[in-house]
Amino acid sequence: MTKLKKDEQNLFDEREASRQAMLRLLQDVIASERDLPDPPYHKAAACAPAPCPYHRPSNHKMRDWPKNVRSSGLTERQCAHGVGHPDPDSLAWLARVRGEKMAYAYGVHGCDGCCAADK
Ligand SMILES: [Zn+2]
Ligand SMILES: [Zn+2]
Repeated sequence: MTKLKKDEQNLFDEREASRQAMLRLLQDVIASERDLPDPPYHKAAACAPAPCPYHRPSNHKMRDWPKNVRSSGLTERQCAHGVGHPDPDSLAWLARVRGEKMAYAYGVHGCDGCCAADK
């Protein structure tokens, strides 16, 4: 094998090796995501011990209402009138990971009054 050919072969082997490494990484990522139920997009250990709409709903009036995940990551609860109300446990989680201001913004919604605490 000429020197040039050998260099070419080495370069090819290196590229192939890193391509294989990328593929393995990608497969690992896909496998770890397949592991998660759909939704929640996290495991119970990830949110423990905080209240969580999926694993540990706190005692609020919407805890048994259907859940809907917004693209923002906020989980909403749908009332009998089809209106989505922010889940308080999801808002608390957003406040922890993205700050109070963001959580406040996510909490703004077109409310029909259903999520207001009972007197
Ligand atoms: Zn959870
Ligand atoms: Zn509401």
